[in-house]
Amino acid sequence: MNYTVPDSGLTSLSAAELAEKIHSREVTSREVTQAHLDRIAETDDQVNAFLYVGAEQALAAADAVDASLDQGEAPASALAGVPLALKDLLTTTDAPTTAASKMLDGWMSPYDSTVTAKIRAAGIPILGKTNLDEFAMGSSTENSAYGVTRNPYDLERTPGGSGGGSSAALAAGQAPIAIGTDTGGSIRQPAALTNTVGVKPTYGTVSRYGLIAAASSLDQAGPTARTVLDTALLHEVIAGYDSFDATSVNRPVAPVVAAAREGANGDLSGVKVGVVKQFDRAGWQPGVMENYHAALRQLTEQGAEIIEVDCPHFDDALAAYYLIMPCEVSSNLARFDGMRYGLRAGDDGTRSAEEVMSLSRAEGFGPEVKRRILIGTYALSVGYYDAYYLQAQRVRTLIAQDFAAAYEKVDVLVTPTTPSTAFKLGEKVSDPLEMYNFDLCTLPLNLAGLCGMSVPSGFASDTGLPVGLQIMAPAFFDDRLYRIGSAYEAGRLVP
Ligand code: GLN
Repeated sequence: MNYTVPDSGLTSLSAAELAEKIHSREVTSREVTQAHLDRIAETDDQVNAFLYVGAEQALAAADAVDASLDQGEAPASALAGVPLALKDLLTTTDAPTTAASKMLDGWMSPYDSTVTAKIRAAGIPILGKTNLDEFAMGSSTENSAYGVTRNPYDLERTPGGSGGGSSAALAAGQAPIAIGTDTGGSIRQPAALTNTVGVKPTYGTVSRYGLIAAASSLDQAGPTARTVLDTALLHEVIAGYDSFDATSVNRPVAPVVAAAREGANGDLSGVKVGVVKQFDRAGWQPGVMENYHAALRQLTEQGAEIIEVDCPHFDDALAAYYLIMPCEVSSNLARFDGMRYGLRAGDDGTRSAEEVMSLSRAEGFGPEVKRRILIGTYALSVGYYDAYYLQAQRVRTLIAQDFAAAYEKVDVLVTPTTPSTAFKLGEKVSDPLEMYNFDLCTLPLNLAGLCGMSVPSGFASDTGLPVGLQIMAPAFFDDRLYRIGSAYEAGRLVP
């Protein structure tokens, strides 16, 4: 059975096409929203992309857009009326926010995340909340407390993670646009595995207010869609300074939509594309590497100059990330203590607060979250702090320096997004290190706070499954991702 985007009908169209039809009143936002709700009803018992579907709220938001357009008002944004899927790590006042954890089962947030608020203000109906690895820790969505999400291209396989729900929703035609979050690859990696586009914006450019924190120095919400232009349109809706986020950067949003439109002419003359030597490996899946080298040839044909660059510390990103990330997790997740909100276990009136906290955390968190809390607590403890946490921070600086040196020579860097196409569900769950290894290519730029995109690169000849090309740009040059990603996408459309 085929669970990917239908060939015809409203759920087959891009967000830009849908917006055009809605704004010209050819169709209503209600019709478009209902079509996606129907598609979810048809397919989601198999795909399991959604943890919660908010049909009523979505239709009410659609009706509000239709009413304002009927009165001749200008659309609230370029995407007004086009429905969206929201990763369940961002708070919403009208739907539960769970982070795919038992710890927050049924929890209703008293406030909307800034990203949620911007989406609402842009007139974008929210279809529901999508599945993820618990607290965004994982690479396959198998760590969700509410069941795995399946890859619409092969239901036996993972859609990637942690944002497998959002990417699978796009690939299945359940939503034309979706929000993800990316701490070490959770937007780009699932995008690569589902033939969709995903962007990790520059750290500090999209507010983290109301994004449930995993690792605060790395987390960033970002846009996902099936085309580069749709991703750019959503990027402009969610980006911008927010005084509620202390790490928010007060500078103008990069002109990503203009860049996506400009890139559509396919011309890359004068663009210098750096190929990361460390991430061109013989041992990786042959079909992925073959696809990657074909992508490089295509970029050359489009006028780009390919330059090999050496990033000697990229290989250390994995070790550094899997120390820094758990350290921040161990601190951030201390708030889930069963006292103030979320699950409380064993509180029968006989136990001390400490016992109740301990029982609540034992019951509320899954094994991967516990593993990270333990690793992080250990690495931050007196006696190990210097050897682990501090050392990892030093490596982080070296990685940032590698990037800085590379960007003196090139405009962007490219790598395959993942070392293989989608793996089978269950294949890596018993081996955390194998799972961590899958993020090799996506982690470095989070450590350096830069931006990156995974853009569809066709299908691997050996597995027949989707492959992604990762494009990485310097901080605040998110527009370069869109210009080059859009050109690459346009080039691929030429037979
Ligand atoms: N897979 C990585 C991890 O498990 C990245 C997760 C993410 O980006 N949220 O930490």
